[in-house]
Amino acid sequence: MTTATINGVDRYIAEARETMARRAELRARVRRLRFDTIAVHGMYGLEEAFSGGQGGIVEPIFPSTSQAYRDSDEMEAALSYRIPTWCYSRIHNPTVFYLEETLALLESYGCSCDATGLATSSGMAAIKQAVEPLLANPQGAPLNFVSTAQVYGGTFQLFNLRMAERGARVRWVTEPWRIETWEPLIDEHTRFLYAEMPSNPQQACTDLEAAAELAHRHGIPLIVDATVATPALMRPLAHGADIVVHSLSKTAGTGGNAIAGGIVARHGIVSRHLDDEQRGDYALWLKLWPFRDSGPCMTATTAHYLLSEMRTLRLKMAQMSRNTLEVARYLAGHPRVERVDYLGLESHPLHRLASRYLKVVDDDTPAYGHLMSFTIRGSAADARTFFDGLGRIFRATDLGRIKSVATIPAISTHQQQGEEGRKLAGIPPTMVRLCVGAEHPQDTIDDLDQALARI
Ligand SMILES: *Cc1c(COP(=O)(O)O)cnc(C)c1O
Repeated sequence: MTTATINGVDRYIAEARETMARRAELRARVRRLRFDTIAVHGMYGLEEAFSGGQGGIVEPIFPSTSQAYRDSDEMEAALSYRIPTWCYSRIHNPTVFYLEETLALLESYGCSCDATGLATSSGMAAIKQAVEPLLANPQGAPLNFVSTAQVYGGTFQLFNLRMAERGARVRWVTEPWRIETWEPLIDEHTRFLYAEMPSNPQQACTDLEAAAELAHRHGIPLIVDATVATPALMRPLAHGADIVVHSLSKTAGTGGNAIAGGIVARHGIVSRHLDDEQRGDYALWLKLWPFRDSGPCMTATTAHYLLSEMRTLRLKMAQMSRNTLEVARYLAGHPRVERVDYLGLESHPLHRLASRYLKVVDDDTPAYGHLMSFTIRGSAADARTFFDGLGRIFRATDLGRIKSVATIPAISTHQQQGEEGRKLAGIPPTMVRLCVGAEHPQDTIDDLDQALARI
């Protein structure tokens, strides 16, 4: 190496050190702000707007596939990861950076820990990326992991089939709210605990603090899918969880314009199976290595769209939670409805546990989100008559929308897992999953009312 090369590379490293220090200082300042302020601005404040954004008040979209370098020294420093770089949009992208920062800041809000975010092409990609390295198995040992049985249909398939193909067995916890039922499933080959909370569609809950304590006692991490709650209602890292995964296609991306996912991991996750670098900043390590090698990246346009959606996340979650409670109370009083499962109803067996964890951030009023389910009193055919009679509520295998959406899980989201799997997860063919949007709740009730009258 010539002296000139060393000097050139070093110059870029010194410059990068300054950029990193400025960014760390900005992040520390942003962390002191309230939730709504972080959601609205994230890391894109006046400073960023006037340095890279030409004064634009919204984060710029960078559709470019790759980054050009000023000279060979900068290229060398960048590609050996000695300076921050985005390099190639499969690995990173400046617009995606703003989303990852916002996501990590919101998810670690009120938590003493630091966290890093990683944006992915879908929620399933986030889950797969988050769990796969924990199941590394060069010796072909009999691995397992423990998960709540009440998980999203895609997660059920991923855990039950895809992971089994790799020699990792899932052990389902059927009553996750009974924390004493978790421990007998854990042994020396267990790599992590996984909980979806509240689960889609049953709204199963787990005592996250107790589950985190249990996981850590066994030297393994707790991973939580908090898609349905969003950080506006629940932040698992503050309760001891190590990694949070999201389908940003759902509630966080309320408008319904993009498929997307995200991982947020605290710095210093607990795992006796990973090395120091992996544990230190798991999400960053994922991004730099396994994620780069498998390619489930988010586009700049999707990141831009999600940033716009998330600015009003708390307001939307508070309003839609209120609407859902009103709709649930109406359904609970209807003679054609056998039961209503909504965590916000005092009659729900998990209401008290849910109330410990689900609250509107910064004002602490309990709010239970906008996912609920109910079963029709009658046959599977009656459920379909009702469902086909809906006139404004969309029939779609979707949730988390600003528009009310309903589905019959047994013929849609949970069809693949078969009758046995549905029984395990508690999903009868008369169950309707309803996600209440931001329409006036009386209009939603009127639609349900006329559809129920058709049975
Ligand atoms: C939809 C969903 C997923 C999967 O997310 P995609 O973005 O559709 O891949 C994971 N978890 C939960 C709770 C979901 O509702």
